[in-house]
Amino acid sequence: MTVKRVRWEREIPSRLAVDVLVVGGGPAGIAASLSAARLGASVLLVEQQGCLGGLGTSGLVPGFCPMSDGERVIVGGIGREVVDRLRERGGTGADDGPEQWDWIAFNPESLKVLYDEMVGEAGVGVRFFTTLVDVLVEGRQVRGAVFSGRSGPYAVEARTFVDATGDGLLSYLSGAACEIGDEAGRLQPPTLCSIFAGVDWETFKGWREGDQPGAAVQRAVEQAIKEGFFSSPDRHHSGAWRTGRRLAGMNVGHAHGVNGADDEQLTEGIIRARRVVQENFAFYRKYVRGFEEAELAATAALLGVRETRRVVADYMLSEGDFVARRSFADQIGRYNYPIDLHPPAATDADYEAFLAEFRGEYVYGAGQSYGIPLRSLIVRDLDNVMVAGRCMGTDRKMQGSTRVMPCCFITGQAAGVAAAMAAGGDGAVRKVESGLVVEGLRKDGAYVPRA
Ligand SMILES: Cc1cc2nc3c(=O)[nH]c(=O)nc-3n(C[C@H](O)[C@H](O)[C@H](O)COP(=O)(O)OP(=O)(O)OC[C@H]3O[C@@H](n4cnc5c(N)ncnc54)[C@H](O)[C@@H]3O)c2cc1C
Repeated sequence: MTVKRVRWEREIPSRLAVDVLVVGGGPAGIAASLSAARLGASVLLVEQQGCLGGLGTSGLVPGFCPMSDGERVIVGGIGREVVDRLRERGGTGADDGPEQWDWIAFNPESLKVLYDEMVGEAGVGVRFFTTLVDVLVEGRQVRGAVFSGRSGPYAVEARTFVDATGDGLLSYLSGAACEIGDEAGRLQPPTLCSIFAGVDWETFKGWREGDQPGAAVQRAVEQAIKEGFFSSPDRHHSGAWRTGRRLAGMNVGHAHGVNGADDEQLTEGIIRARRVVQENFAFYRKYVRGFEEAELAATAALLGVRETRRVVADYMLSEGDFVARRSFADQIGRYNYPIDLHPPAATDADYEAFLAEFRGEYVYGAGQSYGIPLRSLIVRDLDNVMVAGRCMGTDRKMQGSTRVMPCCFITGQAAGVAAAMAAGGDGAVRKVESGLVVEGLRKDGAYVPRA
């Protein structure tokens, strides 16, 4: 199809000039804004939804992936602070304990309020309901970003930028190279997360007996498939998290074949995903003990997109680095979650390959982790832009590990420190010494062992 092109040109107000402009208010953007503001930079954080948290709140993703390596907590700094403060106010799941650092369920409403408080305390300026639509670029320098708000379009100028959009949108609009999908362009499928109310967790636990969490549900999924219950059978079933006394945060079902960086596909995908949720809701009520009286309370505002653009950075962290548990001279943190690439299609072959990777070859032993270099957060084609979170510089396999929220806190915090330090000079992020970034991170509680 040939796309007709039109020219877009108009004079708009430039409303604000800040040291650091962060676009995207998910875990990466929150950590970046907080760390930059705590270093004294003036920071604006722009978010298209009406709350902070990204997929963890607007997307109803129900919990944090592991934050420990089995021997110690390796997600320190802002990530740990979020969990500590959430725990203090009873915002983590009903089964949570003080020393639980693996799989921490949370209530999204508590998390939203906590994030509001944290950015308020740090003096971060926030704009909700405001969408990045364009950038002002001169050569390799981004000078400003253009937003669409309720009052119309306007610009914000900044010395440095953090792309925390999850989709690498700021970098992409600025002309930076991005990668997407595998060799065939295939992507992980999105999931529309939801909340079930009225769940009898004690009955559920009794039904599960000595099983690994999820094993009994998996057997029920296989049974239901055999009985022809599902219109689109899918053996990969992530499952339910206990986010409240009688609440379940649900990460179930996939909308295969959706590219989350394509508006038409995203629209069709969320419509299809709502039907998938209805079917899974009916499945739980019929097949899963403890869910007989459940009610579907909500589906998320955002479709849970796992993977779109990966921004090309100075160093693309790779599967090879994961396998080698590699350390880097400029590492800003370490992480250990297995490579978790949800199968692009609901075939048995794809599912078996996923199991072999996620439950097999990509699982680390206790005490093992990989380093994350600062260079993977520096956008290769630009001078004053950092990238963090699920769109940081990795190959496709590695993104299956770095995409989860604890790692997004790690990379966001480091991007924010580097951006603030660069903004103290002429904005050039490569001029900031990685040793200084590490020093800044350690002062704010981050775990950065020497390479
Ligand atoms: C279904 C699903 C289940 C998952 N399960 C887990 C799990 O169990 N545990 C875990 O730790 N992680 C999980 N993850 C991964 C994790 O939730 C995300 O990868 C993570 O939230 C990414 O963080 P981020 O800050 O990079 O981006 P996001 O959380 O996606 O945040 C990006 C933010 O940018 C905003 N934005 C985007 N474009 C614009 C724009 N143009 N203008 C303004 N704002 C914009 C978005 O509204 C959003 O708030 C899951 C992901 C999915 C999809």
